This record gives sequence, structure tokens and C-alpha cells, in this order.
Amino acid sequence: MVPSPFGKTTSRTPLFTVIFLAACSFCAAIFSFAFGTAPVKSSSLTKFTLASAAPFQFKLLDGSSSALSTQPLRFLGGTSSAFSTPLLRFFSGSVSINGAGQSLLNNPSLRQNIRVILDDTDKQISYEVKIPFVIYGEKIAETEFEEGSEVSVKSVGGIVTVSTPKGEYTGRLIRLRAKLQDEYLNYNKKYFRGEIWFQAQNSRTLVINYLDLEDYLLGVVPLEIGLKDNHYFEALKCAAVAARTFAINRIWENRAFYDVTATVKDQAYGGLDVETGIDSRSVIETTGYILTYKSKPAIVFYSANCGGYTEDIANVFGPVNLPYLKGVQDGDPPYCERSPSFRWSENYTPAEIIRFLFDAKYIKSLNYILENLEIPERYTSGRAKSLIVRLKEHKPIVIPGNKIREVIKSKKDNSILRSSNFEIEIVKNGNGVTKIKLTGKGNGHGVGMCQWGALNQSRAGVPYNEILQHYFPGTELTQAYTN
Ligand SMILES: [Zn+2]
Repeated sequence: MVPSPFGKTTSRTPLFTVIFLAACSFCAAIFSFAFGTAPVKSSSLTKFTLASAAPFQFKLLDGSSSALSTQPLRFLGGTSSAFSTPLLRFFSGSVSINGAGQSLLNNPSLRQNIRVILDDTDKQISYEVKIPFVIYGEKIAETEFEEGSEVSVKSVGGIVTVSTPKGEYTGRLIRLRAKLQDEYLNYNKKYFRGEIWFQAQNSRTLVINYLDLEDYLLGVVPLEIGLKDNHYFEALKCAAVAARTFAINRIWENRAFYDVTATVKDQAYGGLDVETGIDSRSVIETTGYILTYKSKPAIVFYSANCGGYTEDIANVFGPVNLPYLKGVQDGDPPYCERSPSFRWSENYTPAEIIRFLFDAKYIKSLNYILENLEIPERYTSGRAKSLIVRLKEHKPIVIPGNKIREVIKSKKDNSILRSSNFEIEIVKNGNGVTKIKLTGKGNGHGVGMCQWGALNQSRAGVPYNEILQHYFPGTELTQAYTN
């Protein structure tokens, strides 16, 4: 069942890298490797990438790393440490190398970089790099530019060409880095830490910011939480940990060209320009900390305001069983109650409701008469399990709970309804329904951390580790690396 435990061995002297298949499962599998012999006790496979400056024995006593990628993990660590893998860092205190019992956490070489896509275009890119920089890449000798320079970039047939006054550089991937420390590259009127890469994908050019994960977070946290004073500092630290955990999950997915987008689709990232002192402090004070569950990075979710009770992930995103993403009461009274987004109301005419049903393709014509709306059953949180709409001469229309917000829109900006936790008031006269009023609580899907709840817990003096434990019960705050 299990191929050679040393699936592939490449010798580099004095450094060698060993990629081997280790096994693990949800149970606490205990397995150990002696170099050359490898008893493996488990069923599912996981690839580990290790590097060592000397032969070593490796013993892993915590096998809870199951369901990891079977793709080779990217080797991003340093070169001088006894081991370097993005995977093994989470086996804190349970690994011995040559019997020395080293901890895999707090190893500075385990920090890693992230690839953020800034642009994806089939057009020619032309702009001025404003600082001295270096161009380099596969088969391209490093070329230094003593001062800023115009560059133009275009991809054809999977090859990108960067044209400069000094000449043309071609390859699948061409990289730019600042020549001097403490100077930063620009792209699209923004400045970025780390490197700017131009990656060809057929005739498209992907512009990628490649940088240290901690530096990346400096440009993420400021866009997550707008309130910036010391009262909210613990909530900022929660945002830093959540954003770091999300990013690490993405890095481990080993996507082909980049790890994350710079937009809210993943998490908004604004580069150097958006950094603030207090946000940066929240990142630095939590350096390397992520949320883990059974020694793996947790799946993190958050929403603006839970309305008093967070939601089980399965009720929103389908059949997933994540014990730390079950609904929890957000304090009594709710921590998020004192916020502008806790309560809301919407007023509709019957014609507007009919239009929503038509737009969502529940009915084929607008010529129906609305008779009633009702919520037959609710989750513990108060959110609707479904909404039943009754029309004259039509069978009842049942909208599932997780679809209600998409079908019934907010009238303010035609965006999705703020939450599925609402009461319905129907006003009728002799001619039938004249008005429908929804009175609701919360803003967002409600899964995971409630941002307003976290802010108000922070204000009430709750430390960030307790806030995270409140919204993600059963997870651990694990420091994967230090500065
Ligand atoms: Zn809340």
C-alpha cells in the first residue's frame, strides 16, 4: 500500500533533501523513521519535504496531520536548519531529530513567502519603476539598474518579455527586486514590499507580489478592521491571526501561479501604502501565530455582525463538520449588540417581492398575487431554515435558508439581504397584502468570528486569545515561527 518511504531521494552535498511519504490518519498514529528503515503505521499518505545538513533520524509522535496535500510541498525554508518544511512546523514538542527532541516551532527558517496576484492582463504593461532595481530570473543573469527606469512587459506563447532601455529580458517568469534595502517597488501607483514578478500564462501576464508572509499581513489587517484605537487592539490581533491562518492554508494549496488575490475575494491587500502603526503592531505582536485544530491550520471564517449568535458552517455552506465552526452565543447581552449593524429593517411592496422571485427564476411571470411569507422553522441562532412564499394560484415557494439573502435583496443598495435572521410583518387591507416589513439582526453569514463582537470584546478588555477561543472553540493558538 505504501510506496517506498523515501519516495524520492536527492543528494546534495553537504545539504540533502529527502522527500518521503509518511502516513497519518485522524487517529493519533505514531510512526517513526530511522534513516534507511521506515516502519509506517497508517493508511493515508502525506508527503513531507525535509532538508538536513547532516544525516538524521526522524521520529514523529503526533500523527494528526492527515488529509494534507499529496502534492510535493514547496520547499521554502532556509538551508542551514536541521529540517525545513511548511508541514512539520505544527508538530510542536513531539518530534525528535537524532534523539535531540527539537521543537519544530520557533524556528526562524520556517517563515515563508506568499504570492499575491496584483494584475492579470493580455495587454502590454508599461510603467516607470521608480527606484534602483535588479532584474533576474531563470537563465537571466542578474542585471542591476542604478536608478529607476521605464519598463514594458508583454507575454506571448507562455513567454514574457520585459523591455528596458538596457535591453530585453525573456522567460516564463521574470523577477524584479529593489536594489537597496528599505526601498520598495511600485506597480499601478502603489508600493509593495518584496518582489514584483511577471509570469507568463499563454498570452496573459500575471503580475505577482512575492513577499514575506508577515510583510503581507501588514497590508491586510488595516483593510480588515477600520477602528484604530488601543481599545480595539486585541481585535486587531484577532484579525492578524485569522488573516495569517487563511494565508497559510492558501500557501499549502500549492496553486500553480499565485496563492491569493489582493481583493476581498480572498482578503483585501493594499501593499505598503495602507500600513498603519497600530495595525503593524498587531501583526508584529502575533508574529507566527495561527489557529490550529488537530495540529493543522484551522479554516477561518468571519462576518461583520452575527446578530447575537454565530452560525454552524453546515447551515450556510453545506454539509461540512467542523467542530470549531458550530454556532455560539455571542455573549448575553450580545457583544455585537452595541454596533450600527446589529439591527436592520426593510420594507417591501408585494410587487417587489414578486420581482425578486422572478429575478431568481422561481416564477416565470410577474402576474402573481402575494398572499403570505412565513418562516416555518429556525436554527438555534434564530436564522431561518427556509422561507415560504405563498402566491395565489401557485404552489408554495420554498427558499432554503442559505439562499434567502440572495433572493430577497436589500433595498438600500440592491445588495444581498443583511442576514437570514429576521421577523416578518405583513400589512393587509381589503384588497390583500399592501406591505411587507422585515426586522432583522446581524450582518453577514454569521460563521466564525463576529467582527463587531471581537471589537466590543476587545473594548471590554478580553485578550485576543480568549476572543479567538470564543468564536473558534477547540482550536489552539499555535506559534509556527518567531521573528
Ligand atoms: Zn456577534
